[in-house]
Amino acid sequence: MSRYRLMPSAAQEAALLGHCAHARYVWNLCVEQESYWRPGRGPMPGFSGRCRQLSEARADSPWLAQGSVIVQQQAIRDHDQAMAGFFAGRHRRPSWRKAGRDEGFRIVHVRPGHVRRLSRNTGEVRVPKAGWVRFRWSRQVPQDVRSFRVRLDRAGRWHVAFAVVPEPVKGPGTGEIAGIDRGVAVSAALSTGELLHCPGLSAPQRGRLRRLERKLARGNRGSERRKRVRRAAARVKARSADIRKDWYEKTSTDIAGRFDVIRVEDLKIGNMTRSARGSIRQPGRNVRAKAGLNREIMRSGRGLLVRRLEDKAPGRVEKVRPAYTSQRCSACGHIAAGSRESQALFRCVACGYTLNADVNAARNIAAGHAVTARGGVRDAGPVNREPQPVLLPAG
Ligand SMILES: [Zn+2]
Repeated sequence: MSRYRLMPSAAQEAALLGHCAHARYVWNLCVEQESYWRPGRGPMPGFSGRCRQLSEARADSPWLAQGSVIVQQQAIRDHDQAMAGFFAGRHRRPSWRKAGRDEGFRIVHVRPGHVRRLSRNTGEVRVPKAGWVRFRWSRQVPQDVRSFRVRLDRAGRWHVAFAVVPEPVKGPGTGEIAGIDRGVAVSAALSTGELLHCPGLSAPQRGRLRRLERKLARGNRGSERRKRVRRAAARVKARSADIRKDWYEKTSTDIAGRFDVIRVEDLKIGNMTRSARGSIRQPGRNVRAKAGLNREIMRSGRGLLVRRLEDKAPGRVEKVRPAYTSQRCSACGHIAAGSRESQALFRCVACGYTLNADVNAARNIAAGHAVTARGGVRDAGPVNREPQPVLLPAG
């Protein structure tokens, strides 16, 4: 992830904040429009329809017209993509954006000369209406930047992230297949038996955060001290988010380079079958004992790993029907809810095969049926046939 610390001057910061306000305003208009939708009212306007509405709004509102049309159109596009993600079951319905939170905007149609290096540690990027804004050249900026996003985090730091599709990683060419189960107790389990843990907050960090949050609850609203405490809490969270992003980059590169075919659960189907699988996906007791924050972190990372793998191993990631992956014995194929002894342990009631529950699921996924882009089912091989529905236990 190529993210850089942006260092705007005071005047530039005002311009950036203006862009944030416009992007937030347009986003919230989209949210409001969606909230009026009722069955039978016909389809919502698409991206181009909303862009037309935006032109009308700009003609009526000098405040909006002052801003950058790129920023405002891209806010529509962001919302559009968020809705698509919502319908695909990837994340929740996009909701209202508040000032001081979720602040940011995107610039597209970046020209080749619009990002340049000034010195060893400094670069600058051209932002509409703000001019050349300096950033910390902390690593090489990728070639051919086409778009970038500017963000203000809750710690009050500005960042710029240059969008590039990561270079594809070459597979080993051995035909090796891996299944990945994105669990709750671990970030990912591989069919090879590896359990991958994405670093969450460490115990001291969690303690510090808890203390800061307690202080925050006590402090006077709007006081300087309270602002400082909030910024400190945001810094702890931001730092651990950086570490996690880095982990996902490295892990996805590693997996893409080690296996030719990578199979994962198709979450679109997963959401539907999850309830049928009852409480299997519910975090177990020792997971709940951890801070809720870490759980939140792992949940948000689940989709990220797959997205990165799809970028780095294009055409080599296959989505698999998730039905019964956690109840099926990867050794003998027997399916029974009782084989899942606990969150962590799988012990087959038929053959007694015992192993880590997430690894067992990952092996079933590795052997599973690939779902083609159109939703059809393609057989992955005769060895691990999915049982016919008539043989499945009711439930
Ligand atoms: Zn078995």
